[in-house]
Amino acid sequence: MSVDEETRAAAAAVLGESAGFPCSECDFVGSSASSLGQHKRKHQVARAAKPPPRVTPGEAVVAEVIGKTVANLQVLGGYLSMVLPHTGIAIAGVPGEREGDPPIVQSRAATAGTVLELWAKRDARVLAALGRFNQLFETSAVVELAAGIGAAVAVDLGAVPADLAVEIGPFAGENAIQPVRAVIGDVIDFVGAMRQQAAAARPAQPNGVAPDGAEVIDGGVEET
Ligand SMILES: [Zn+2]
Repeated sequence: MSVDEETRAAAAAVLGESAGFPCSECDFVGSSASSLGQHKRKHQVARAAKPPPRVTPGEAVVAEVIGKTVANLQVLGGYLSMVLPHTGIAIAGVPGEREGDPPIVQSRAATAGTVLELWAKRDARVLAALGRFNQLFETSAVVELAAGIGAAVAVDLGAVPADLAVEIGPFAGENAIQPVRAVIGDVIDFVGAMRQQAAAARPAQPNGVAPDGAEVIDGGVEET
């Protein structure tokens, strides 16, 4: 019995009344067990109508998830820059030459990260969505597939040469980084072999007459 209930019971005893049926959640005192039951159902209804308290995720968790998301977006931007250089570089950004230097291109992924961080701190659903996005990168098959197709399209469009080599620091000459070959080396080898076969099978044409009999002029149309 709480102090309140004791006081009420004592007062009731002095006044010659029964203590009644006090509600354990508020000041209501029912005159009978059934009136208390009826009253208590109001509390139950009110509780059911109220949404569950929103769990605000901890700052450390948010910071870690956002950090991962930004890094993953930058990786995606890096791959994307092979096909869509402007878009890819805008997402990935370009860091300054030395540590501490301002970035040469501000990463839009990093900018998005600061906005998403504000949302994620307030809404666990945003954080959960970002967590799912990050999981895509942990089971890397999806990303490898996207990167591979991106690189293949880039080569076909002529946006990058298949043997693109990037020389950075100790990675020079034979050790140069070959991003396209790293992602779709097998495709490049296969297409290369097919082209060689096709070239070998093509009969040499005598200069001057095309297979349909038309006259062929060396040098192409722009010279005529
Ligand atoms: Zn009550």
